Amino acid sequence: MKIASLYGRGKTVFSFEIFPPKPTSPIESIYGVLEELCVLKPDYISVTYGAGGNARDNKTSEIASRIKNKYGIEAMAHLTCVGNDRDDILVQLEDFKKKGIDNILALRGDIKPDIPVKEDFKYASDLVTFIKENGDFGISGACYPECHLEAKSIVEDIANLKTKVDCGVQSLITQLFFDNSLFYDFYEKVQIAGIKAPICAGIMPVTNKKQIERMVTMCGASLPQKFVKMLQRYEGRPEALVDAGIAYAVDQIVDLISNGVDGIHIYAMNNPYVVRKISDSVRTLL
Ligand code: FAD
Repeated sequence: MKIASLYGRGKTVFSFEIFPPKPTSPIESIYGVLEELCVLKPDYISVTYGAGGNARDNKTSEIASRIKNKYGIEAMAHLTCVGNDRDDILVQLEDFKKKGIDNILALRGDIKPDIPVKEDFKYASDLVTFIKENGDFGISGACYPECHLEAKSIVEDIANLKTKVDCGVQSLITQLFFDNSLFYDFYEKVQIAGIKAPICAGIMPVTNKKQIERMVTMCGASLPQKFVKMLQRYEGRPEALVDAGIAYAVDQIVDLISNGVDGIHIYAMNNPYVVRKISDSVRTLL
């Protein structure tokens, strides 16, 4: 099933994102997480693809296949192109087809000094075009309410997003954000730009202070005063911080759903406890 077909049915699409275990850990180490997340019956689960991931050797498709074929939950495999050439991507697409994976989150990937950049795909939109030419996949893309870090302005970033959608992206997932007003401003600008694809809001519950600091440095999300105060008050009490983080995420989600958001995508951080708490709190609202 294509994920785009989940939208427009009068229900907020509810999804989770997980990441594969480290290369040094066996794939089985994530099976318990999958079991617990799939019981929550999200509309789909997406599986990240290591930055500069190798199309010939990664765990993303195997995990996505397990989600779909063992648990009957729709799966979305992330795929980055920055470190892959056309042949690499073709190998990966064939692997997805063999495993029955219908949905791809097409990404460029971050440019990092330790990842050799290959020249075939400059932007995610190039990957989107290539995927369309080489299979019948549902294609999603990433978007950035606070502007992608490399873009000169939000106007330029949204113009590039329009190009990406016009190439064949059917739905979008946002970078994490902690201030809903930034999402609403972005959504309005996207509508003005004529982008019609549904947009899933990416929500990351806080589970520990270090993790949030790392994510924020990587993606540049701004921290509202309310959020900073929460971190400061509970940073020395890990259990209280998890509870406060869950409450903050639920508060964001209730507001987003009340304002008619197309979908909620929880950055699950492979933490089923946190995701279950959030799901239990918002299930009847979707
Ligand atoms: P693009 O859409 O190509 O945009 C990158 C930059 O190029 C932007 O500044 C954009 O404005 C600009 N641009 C785009 N097109 C043009 C053009 N035609 N001309 C000029 N400029 C242009 N990374 C991973 O490694 N693995 C993952 O699994 C992963 N999952 C993610 C999931 C989500 C929901 C999100 C939001 C991000 C994820 N990322 C992941 C991070 C992502 O790879 C980085 O943010 C990356 O820097 C940009 O990827 P993109 O697909 O948005 O790139």
